[in-house]
Formats: sequence, C-alpha cells, structure tokens
Amino acid sequence: MKALLSAALAAASLLAAAPAAAEWRVREEAIMGTRVAVEAWHEDAAVADAAMAAVFAEMHRVDRLMSHYKPESELSQVNARAAAGPVAVAPELAALIARALEFSVLTDGAFDITYASVGYLYDYRAGQRPDDAQIAAHLPAVNWRHVIVDRAASTVRFTQDGVRIDLGGIAKGYAVDRGVAILAEKGIRHGTVTAGGDTRILGDRLGRPWVIGIRHPDDRQRVVSRIPLVDAALSTSGDYERYFDEDGQRYHHIINPRTGRSAGELRSVTIIGPDATTTDGLSTGVFVLGAERGLALIERLRDVDAVLVTAGGKVLYSSGLAPP
Ligand code: ADP
Ligand code: MG
Repeated sequence: MKALLSAALAAASLLAAAPAAAEWRVREEAIMGTRVAVEAWHEDAAVADAAMAAVFAEMHRVDRLMSHYKPESELSQVNARAAAGPVAVAPELAALIARALEFSVLTDGAFDITYASVGYLYDYRAGQRPDDAQIAAHLPAVNWRHVIVDRAASTVRFTQDGVRIDLGGIAKGYAVDRGVAILAEKGIRHGTVTAGGDTRILGDRLGRPWVIGIRHPDDRQRVVSRIPLVDAALSTSGDYERYFDEDGQRYHHIINPRTGRSAGELRSVTIIGPDATTTDGLSTGVFVLGAERGLALIERLRDVDAVLVTAGGKVLYSSGLAPP
C-alpha cells in the first residue's frame, strides 16, 4: 500500500512538473491490410504529433515496398521476374528477405516465405481454397532454398519457375520496428507502435509497465493472459485473423510449407522478445511447428518467451513466463 501510494505521488509530481500540453497522443490508420496504431507521450504534445506523423509515413513507405497486393511494389517485381534472373531490389528488401531465410533455418522450414507459391491459391474472403491436385502441383515450388539473395549486388532470384514469396509473416513486425526507431529518433521515450498482431513498446508507461492482453481465440472480449512489458516486442499469430470455415474445418492464413494446408495444432501463438521482426517471424514459425517443437525452439533461444493456446484450449507458457 505504501509502495503504491508513493508511486502515485511520484506520478502526480511528474504530471505537475510537465507543461500543460503534455498528454498521451493516440493515432490509428488502416495500412498493410490491418490496423496500425501509435501512442506516444512527450512533454510537448506537438513533438509527439510530429513523431507519430513520421511513423505513419514510414508505414506507408514499407507497405509500398513490400506489399504483394500492389503490382508495382518491388516484392511484386521479384515474384514476376526472379525465376528468369536476378532482380535488383532496395538493399532494405534484400536484407529483410535474407532475414526471412534465417528464420527458415531456425524453424527447420516451418517459417517459409515461399509458402506463397501455394498460399496465393487461397482466398479467405471469398472462401476459396486449392484442391488436392492444385496443392500437389504447386507444393514443389515451396522451399526457401529456391530463393537466392545476393546482399552485395542487392538482387533476388529464384532457382525455378512457380516460386512466389510473401512477407506477410514478418513485414508488419519489421514496420513496427522501423516505427519505434523513428519515435526514438524524434525524442519520444514512452510509446507503442502496433500493426495488427505485432506490437513494440518503447520505454515504460510513465513509471509502470505496459500491460498487454492476449485475447481468447474465439472471443475478442476475453483475455487468456496479461503480460507486463517494458522496452519489448510482442507478436500474436492466430487462426482467427483471416479464415473461413467449411464442413467444420477451419482454413486460415498460416500455411504449413510441408503440406500446403493451414497448420492445425494451435489456435494462437504469442512471442515476446527484444524486437518485433523477431517476434513476428517466430510467432508464425512456432504456430506451424506446434506446441512441442515450438516450445523446444523458444527454450533454446535467448531473450524470447512464448504463450501458446492449443486446439484444446490449453494455455502453455515457456519457462521464462511460467508461474513458479
Ligand atoms: P498476422 O499478423 O497477419 O496475423 P502472422 O504473423 O500470424 O500475421 O503471419 C501470417 C501471415 O504470414 C499470413 O497472412 C501469410 O502472409 C504469411 N505466412 C503464412 N504461412 C507462412 C509460413 N509458413 N511462413 C512464413 N509466412 C507465412
Ligand atoms: Mg508473424
């Protein structure tokens, strides 16, 4: 009680010391097919607003570079031409694709941006999916080893026809990391940047941790766990984001590269770690790996923890989070 009281007094004096304009600023926009939200605090609210505007501009820039919906994006150019020969790309895109390939190595192929060679045959909004013959025909193109990145030349090529890549499992985390870097550059020390299921937290919430709720897979009002965080990233991958149900079967947007079908063992995976590119890639990869192999991977890595919700509704924690 005493500790609480002194914390409250400290918070009160912090407020009293700040100019009248100091307040939390919040802004939201739909970008990259998802909800992007930024919160920031600064003694001078105008500084916070300018920083947030720069973050949104950056999000649009990353989207233009990496969207597979935009035919003019560099990513779309790679998909259209890389089977014929090396395609020149921005060093930044070459670096992120190289990073994605590292996640493939780490997850033993569970995270694989060439999933898209089959993945593009699904249309979750329209309730469309490939049949067995289509999956069999396209599955040989799913293999991260088909993607050759030359960082020095800043080019990407594919070793065979039919390969497509998509950065949906990592680009939002990357954009969030860029956003937080910009907030910090502009003098913000307390803030958050969120894109869909990926969040990065800068500093604390003026003397307290940020508390992030992990939602129940079937009920967005219910929370299965709450995690206090300071200077950290958190990503959730779930089977409830983009999906359709048919004959009691759920078809959703996280594809097992070995089968070309939705990964079925888990309902959601949340990864907590130092940066959002890492947590985003790992949340998708661990979702495919399943509980046993996924948790084993998380235990091997330093600085990352995980909360898993199984198909049976059980909540599993990595040892860094498990209650004693
Ligand atoms: P979201 O935040 O959109 O829910 P996730 O981080 O859960 O995204 O990743 C899902 C997205 O990752 C899919 O929409 C797709 O673009 C991409 N993806 C699907 N399966 C894989 C996979 N096995 N490896 C890499 N990326 C994948
Ligand atoms: Mg992800």
